[in-house]
Amino acid sequence: MRPEILFPLYAPVSTLKGVGPRVAPLVEKLAGSIVRDVLFTLPTSVIRRTATTVDRAIDGQVQTFTVSLDAHQPPSRLGQPWKIRAWDETGFLTLTWFKGHGPHLERQHPVGARRVVSGKVERFGSEIQVAHPEYLLPEDRASDIPAFEPVYPATAGLPSRSFRRFALEALSRAPDLGEWLDSAWQAREALPSWRVAFAAAHGPEGEADVHPLAPHRRRLAYDELLAHQLALAQRKASRRAQPAPSIGPSPLAADAERALPFKLTGAQIRALSEVRGDLASGQRMSRLLQGDVGSGKTVVAMLAIADAAGAGLQSALMAPTEILARQHFETIAPILEQLSLSVILLTGRDKGAARASKLSGLASGVHAVAIGTHALFQDDVVFKALGLSIIDEQHRFGVNERRRLQDKGPAGDGGGVHLLAMSATPIPRTLELTVFGDLDVSRIDEKPPGRTPVATRAVPMPRLPEIIARLKAAAASGAQAFWICPLVSESEKIDLRAAEDRAADLRQIIGSSVGLVHGQMPAAEKDAVMADFVDGKVSVLVATTVVEVGVNVPNASIMVIEQAERFGLAQLHQLRGRVGRGARPSSCVLLYDLPLSETAQQRLDILRRSDDGFEIAEKDLELRGGGDPLGLKQSGFPAYRLADPVAHRDLIAVAADDARLILARDPELISPRGQAVQTLQALFDWKPTSPQHDAG
Ligand code: ADP
Ligand code: MG
Repeated sequence: MRPEILFPLYAPVSTLKGVGPRVAPLVEKLAGSIVRDVLFTLPTSVIRRTATTVDRAIDGQVQTFTVSLDAHQPPSRLGQPWKIRAWDETGFLTLTWFKGHGPHLERQHPVGARRVVSGKVERFGSEIQVAHPEYLLPEDRASDIPAFEPVYPATAGLPSRSFRRFALEALSRAPDLGEWLDSAWQAREALPSWRVAFAAAHGPEGEADVHPLAPHRRRLAYDELLAHQLALAQRKASRRAQPAPSIGPSPLAADAERALPFKLTGAQIRALSEVRGDLASGQRMSRLLQGDVGSGKTVVAMLAIADAAGAGLQSALMAPTEILARQHFETIAPILEQLSLSVILLTGRDKGAARASKLSGLASGVHAVAIGTHALFQDDVVFKALGLSIIDEQHRFGVNERRRLQDKGPAGDGGGVHLLAMSATPIPRTLELTVFGDLDVSRIDEKPPGRTPVATRAVPMPRLPEIIARLKAAAASGAQAFWICPLVSESEKIDLRAAEDRAADLRQIIGSSVGLVHGQMPAAEKDAVMADFVDGKVSVLVATTVVEVGVNVPNASIMVIEQAERFGLAQLHQLRGRVGRGARPSSCVLLYDLPLSETAQQRLDILRRSDDGFEIAEKDLELRGGGDPLGLKQSGFPAYRLADPVAHRDLIAVAADDARLILARDPELISPRGQAVQTLQALFDWKPTSPQHDAG
């Protein structure tokens, strides 16, 4: 499978010169197990070593001095460093080593010798130190010290400089590969060839060369994005090739729509028609319905269920928690039952005869729809003719769980079941293709009418008493509120205490209608408190962030979030989305600790100004930069090695288009470019079957 030309890169790291049995595990930990991984590990920054005099030593900087050695000072007791006192005409410099290099040092660097020393300067009071100098050379070899050096990731026992040697050797083994880039585009973007790009990446000549937007870095990032998009596109294509029953719009759905007390929004109509296009296609649907909390995804799901029922097929709707499942049931069942469709709720609570009767109804086809929790996965849950499975808050389920529900299809291999996943996690548009590249995505980007925007204010913690006083007045007039305490410390116990203390405080002022839910509570207890809140028996619900995203409590109109600066913006937005659903004007109070950093201030400001989850997610991404800004890894976000999804986001859509085109023109990848593309895929090991993210 692997092209021969890549063999040198697939060799284990131990084949690199200098990587012996002691070093190999360190290299593996840092980079990975094969030479390719070392090649793919790029310098993260550069240091410039300025040659200067001791009086100009700057704490924390890497500098180079020319000094005379004055005295060796062996450690006075264990744990003390070996020191060499050195000087130039402007002052004294102490060189220190913490391991027993003493005799060796005395031999190599005798008193009176002139040396060029380079390393990171540390000041302790009046003492100027260089600990473990990176260079200590006779004066005539000063030119051996580079003025400028790339810095690689390092780990204990494997300093950046050693890793650099391995990286350069890995580079020397990198072959010239056939070009997979479209030549016109490559020329326009002025991107170097693959081999040249790696040479430039490992041989930076200035700051600009380690910048993600340097042409060679963009080239390498693009390669990785393209490899990933190709894999996603291939997976999508193979999924499309699976047949599934063709389901047309049914009169039942038209009746259900008429039974709604409202008109669908334009965005809902659009999403529904996209779903219907898939259902009617004869190919298996894998569609993600994305929309802010409260945007009305459930109705779209319900109408798809009605279509399936019209075609004589059953549907399963699965939610991550019992309370959500029950809410869906209460929304959907009355409408569908008017149409003589039997809908059941199946959760962990169903036991014994009641459960058995529900199961037999599903197996015989008496029930058209099952709404439930993980209980729907159980092996003894058998459908007569499952045609559509819907997964709410899809990121809360693992790939296997989703697949298990699909496996309940008629063929038993999941082939025949249409999948509709729903999510309220606003993935910025620019990143959507990397997260959901193998799903079709419909967005509900419009809220149902009549929602008043949630008045959002940021309030410093010292004004807490004022907020509590207002909350008390609001509760007295029948309003309900969420009060969110963050999980911040290392210890969940401490966080829990903070939430318990807050609940106790509020109870003292507001009264016994203050409830508490947290992640450590048994599910049944948690559900009971949530249910009391839904029913209005609890007026203020104190919660750690476990509050279910999808829970609908129309009467709740106040959201207070403590230490709001600790949350991701997307998360704050989702929390805020739980209020503003009813007739009462709603408010969201973002409590923050003083002092607030400028970025934190800007972030909270975005939230005050915007009510659009996608826009907020995009801005948050800009402000927070790289890494895993939105906690996306959990949503199946790939761990790129050369691409930075934020810095290189302009390349994502280009790579997706490119991948589509490549596969459309040359599905077997046999043209010269196609063969180069195969090499690219082998290079990244992104086989279409590897489950980076999989809708099942
Ligand atoms: P989501 O699951 O997207 O967070 P829901 O489907 O729970 O949102 O809908 C939130 C609320 O909005 C529900 O009470 C629902 O009945 C209502 N709703 C949905 N669509 C509309 C619409 N087009 N007009 C008015 N209200 C709607
Ligand atoms: Mg929902």
